[in-house]
Amino acid sequence: MTDYEDLLEKGMEEVPEVEEQGERFEVPVAETKKSGSNTVIENFKEIVEAFGREQKHVSKYIQNELGTAGHVDGGDLVLNGEFRRGSVQAKVQQYADEYVFCPKCERPDTEIVKEKGVEIMKCQACGARTPLEG
Ligand SMILES: [Zn+2]
Repeated sequence: MTDYEDLLEKGMEEVPEVEEQGERFEVPVAETKKSGSNTVIENFKEIVEAFGREQKHVSKYIQNELGTAGHVDGGDLVLNGEFRRGSVQAKVQQYADEYVFCPKCERPDTEIVKEKGVEIMKCQACGARTPLEG
């Protein structure tokens, strides 16, 4: 074995193992149920916590997107009207795409900050700063 090969082999051994924990982020699945003429997202609190966003921000977004009003009751989000689970889930996913995942590196390690009245998504993974619209 040449010195060069020896070095290569050593180099390979020193490559640190990729930390798996926290790498994968799965968008939570909305658990919905019908309540009279309303639709309740029973795990709304968990969804908000998984996203690390303000409850109000998430609830307002979902209400706007579904074109309805609603209110937070405990950890539930109560939406006026009947919505299929699939429609609700589509909005939860859409929220994640717009406000949680960094458009540059697609990681969820982001936070939203306000600078001069403009909301900016800051990515802790790659440092990207993405202004949010609306
Ligand atoms: Zn990023």
